[in-house]
Amino acid sequence: MKCPHCQSNKTVKNGKARLKDQRQRQNYLCRSCGKRFNERTNTPMARLRTPPEIVSAALSVRSEGLGIRATGRSFEKAHTTIIGWEERFAQQVEKWSPPAPVEAEITVEGDEVYTRVGKNLSPQ
Ligand SMILES: [Zn+2]
Repeated sequence: MKCPHCQSNKTVKNGKARLKDQRQRQNYLCRSCGKRFNERTNTPMARLRTPPEIVSAALSVRSEGLGIRATGRSFEKAHTTIIGWEERFAQQVEKWSPPAPVEAEITVEGDEVYTRVGKNLSPQ
């Protein structure tokens, strides 16, 4: 677990906090800067009261083109809440994005290109 404050890897587990919904959250302590954090610190999900799955699902239907008020009704949230989520994610979209599979695709293409070039160069 990398420290979100100083990016150090010298972090240790520092007890667990029990959440209202019975899940446990692992807390960490950074030995470099001495700050405490948990796995949600500095992520778009930090300090959200709504489960990440819900926020993610709401933003997903929004990206499909569902209106802000309709989304709010579907998820039983005020539409202003939905707007708040969108603003939060727009600011932190880079951190939120899962690792894209682009690298793998490029590798495959690279191999194909290499193979083709190799054939062209072979003296036949
Ligand atoms: Zn630190």
